Amino acid sequence: MKKQIPAIKGTKDILPREARQWQNVEAVIKRVCELYGYREIRTPIFEATELFEKGTGETSDIVIKEMYTFTDKAGRSLTLRPEYTPSVVRSIIDNRLYLKPDPLRFYFMGPMFRYDKPQKGRYRQFHQLDVEVFAEKDPAVDAEIVEMATYLLHQLKVTDTETLVNSVGCKACRPSYIKKLRTHAQKEKKELCEDCQRKVLTNPLRIFDCKQETCQAIARDFPMITDHLCQECEEHFNKFCAHLDFYGLKYRIEPRLVRGIDYYTKTTFEIISSKLGAQDAVLGGGRYDDMMKEFGGPDICGIGFAMGLERLLSVVPKTEPKGQFLYLAHLGDEAKEAGMALAQFLRREGVECLMEYKEKGLKSQMSRANKLGATWVLIVGEDEVKKGRYQLKNMATGRQEEWSQKEILDVIRETS
Ligand code: AMP
Repeated sequence: MKKQIPAIKGTKDILPREARQWQNVEAVIKRVCELYGYREIRTPIFEATELFEKGTGETSDIVIKEMYTFTDKAGRSLTLRPEYTPSVVRSIIDNRLYLKPDPLRFYFMGPMFRYDKPQKGRYRQFHQLDVEVFAEKDPAVDAEIVEMATYLLHQLKVTDTETLVNSVGCKACRPSYIKKLRTHAQKEKKELCEDCQRKVLTNPLRIFDCKQETCQAIARDFPMITDHLCQECEEHFNKFCAHLDFYGLKYRIEPRLVRGIDYYTKTTFEIISSKLGAQDAVLGGGRYDDMMKEFGGPDICGIGFAMGLERLLSVVPKTEPKGQFLYLAHLGDEAKEAGMALAQFLRREGVECLMEYKEKGLKSQMSRANKLGATWVLIVGEDEVKKGRYQLKNMATGRQEEWSQKEILDVIRETS
């Protein structure tokens, strides 16, 4: 026996039946995004490593521990994107999209790569829907984006979710808060995990991201950013919440919601699902008003969210695909060719048609069609070919009748 080559740990095949569910969910996502004025953007899967170091942030877990980074043949350091926002910002600057009249509203769906510890809801290649709006300072857009995410989940019949919101301040108010937080964290340093001990120095805000019980318990007594916002951030947050109220959305203010990424300013939010277990965030996002400028672009603010599609699909109610199709059963060489022509004709007319080429008798072809859930079976034998009339069986009613090629199409169209 030759050695098998298994899939890489943390990756997952999406098999055809499951892919159908993905397609249905993706279609709803596209429709909702377009309804809110977003347009699709597609950027490369790999980028210069520096883009994520600078964008996602050098003190984030993603950059420290989780990036798939490699050197290409020309000696450049490249990284498979671990998240999408820095790529979109880079693309806007590269293509000077801000000079065009089109709204700076983008969405994207595709794979992301993180060297995470694989577990339920955590993969090394996973998929995200990413939604981003630029050049809108008004907190009304923060609320609109949360409203859109809520509507999207509603359209997908996802229930039992909770919306968490917070503000992480800005360049003006965060540094003094971080200083205070560091002093506090310093006192508890010995009790924190090794990772968090490092964070006390590098970025104590990231301690709130730690999943360890002891660290979370200690962090509960830390000073909260919401009590240290500058006037502008506080006003922004109050207006954001007022707009959420205007939409009639339910939410909980969670002062520890700092999200694992360094670039956020002001608003952060997350929608969690009680059906998900430990990794309970279906989506998360926030505002990042400084990133474009820091990437050498114009001073344009941004806000967005990323939704994990594997997690989303695990909470979307499953529906059996209802696709109709015709199974073409053929008997003998002559009938095979006639069947090939008939199948081609029907496909050109938009009828999904399956023909298999293993030599099998009528009985076994019929039972196969039944097993596959065919809507109709078209029987093509030598007699049928001679007459130019074929037996069409409706599998739901069991009714079988003889028709010409043209009539077959009419019958199918009438019954579908
Ligand atoms: P983040 O980019 O870390 O804010 O994550 C946004 C969303 O992506 C999360 O809420 C999850 O739904 C999803 N996600 C993040 N990391 C993973 C992963 N390793 N595997 C699967 N989904 C993930």
